[in-house]
Amino acid sequence: MARAFNFSAGPSALPEDLLKEAAAEMLDFGGTGMSVMEMSHRSPAFQTIVDDAEDTLRHLLAIPDNYRVMFLQGGATLQFAAVPMNLMRTGRAGYVVSGNWSKLAWKEAQKYGEAVPVATGENDGFTRTPKVPTPIDQGLDYLYICQNETVFGTMMRELPDTGSVPLVADVSSMFLSCPLDVERYGLIYAGAQKNAGPAGTTIVICRDDLIGDGPALGDVVPTYMGYRLQADKGSLYNTPNCWGIYMCGKVFHWVEDMGGLAAMGERNWARVNRLYGFLDESSLFEPLVERDSRSIANVTFRCPTPELDAAFVAGARERGIQNIKGHRILGGMRASCYNAVPDAAIDALLAYMGEFEREHGHGPARQS
Ligand SMILES: *Cc1c(COP(=O)(O)O)cnc(C)c1O
Repeated sequence: MARAFNFSAGPSALPEDLLKEAAAEMLDFGGTGMSVMEMSHRSPAFQTIVDDAEDTLRHLLAIPDNYRVMFLQGGATLQFAAVPMNLMRTGRAGYVVSGNWSKLAWKEAQKYGEAVPVATGENDGFTRTPKVPTPIDQGLDYLYICQNETVFGTMMRELPDTGSVPLVADVSSMFLSCPLDVERYGLIYAGAQKNAGPAGTTIVICRDDLIGDGPALGDVVPTYMGYRLQADKGSLYNTPNCWGIYMCGKVFHWVEDMGGLAAMGERNWARVNRLYGFLDESSLFEPLVERDSRSIANVTFRCPTPELDAAFVAGARERGIQNIKGHRILGGMRASCYNAVPDAAIDALLAYMGEFEREHGHGPARQS
């Protein structure tokens, strides 16, 4: 079977060349006589893999020396707890609730301290990024944002001015999609399975002084979840996701070979803007997000009725266009156009949308 045009929100498409490379190295990685899945995480060969992944990422993002890079497990979801456990030093932090992921993070943080909702987009149905009222309370331990809300397809285009309060950002679904000014943040994290590699690795980049001597909540914090320890042990306190880190390293090199993050950003905006442009002109499809809040990766839209949505998704599958169905909490469709989605997939989707619109274009108005 031919490779699918895969618009999955995550786990998502990986660059085909890298899959072939990994396949070629499956039985014998670099003359070791074994797969990366089979080698000791304490071996020189694996140490080279981790070091190279970190170095390449540092170069890609121009990560300053006073930031630590960690490759952890537990997904972005575990970071919802790890962030307050490590950084809630006075017990009060601010949360911008801009979609379901930041809402989950906000709820999780309430277990560990006071999580103040400084702005919420819930009244707008999360169709636009909420404005953060400034100046923000300078007594907060940090201000938390989810910069690209994967489910609704919104993106915070400009970072809030937090003064001296560290900005903490879940950037899972926009990581490596475009340039990111690391110094604007105290902590950034991203689950790899959107843009950086296979599921199972979470990349955490944190300013060293925020980690302090240990977690804010002290000894009750699971040893594994202490940033100080993980940073000092170079992500090798216990057995890491060796295979995941190896694949992430390959993706980092691939992004570099594609011209780096500035080139990626230009290419990605051009691609999603073709889709947004089509949706804005369409007599059938409706974009779900206000113009100034649209995502660089996750394009959400719908037809006038759920029946047409279902017909669209079914027809897409017949054309090899997969994982286009919207998240269950929102319905409609979602095309996640991550880095490894080829231009041909965008072309195929647009062609199919045009075809579908010509066929169904003058249907009933949406009943809702
Ligand atoms: C996918 C995603 C998550 C959840 O990631 P897991 O690795 O499944 O825990 C959290 N935040 C954002 C923005 C995401 O896109």
